Amino acid sequence: MEARPTPAIRKPRGRVEIDIQKCKGCELCTDACKKETLVLSDAINIKGYHYVIVNNDACNACLDCALVCPDAVITVYKLQKSKKVNITPPDIKEQLRAAATPKTVPV
Ligand code: SF4
Ligand code: SF4
Repeated sequence: MEARPTPAIRKPRGRVEIDIQKCKGCELCTDACKKETLVLSDAINIKGYHYVIVNNDACNACLDCALVCPDAVITVYKLQKSKKVNITPPDIKEQLRAAATPKTVPV
């Protein structure tokens, strides 16, 4: 009996979009990406920072870059059969804003 070919294991594929004009080039995302798909550009944005650019071919939609970005400028999509699904937590900006807001202490 002929052995059936093993089906190829489908790896999740991702697509990252970066709001480059809001990036401050801190490189937290480049350190967080295990696939090494993010690099700092030689060009600068309107704020004068080198911004991050992405090679989406290796992205597996793990979300690490979006979760570590302090300015929430990264959006991650999971690609599913010709459509892309936003998997970035929708409340990430609110969480960051709340964490950055100084707490008032009653006197
Ligand atoms: S989603 Fe994951 S693999 Fe894709 S760029 Fe971000 S950290 Fe890298
Ligand atoms: S973590 Fe955010 S602000 Fe920092 S370099 Fe990456 S995209 Fe830019």
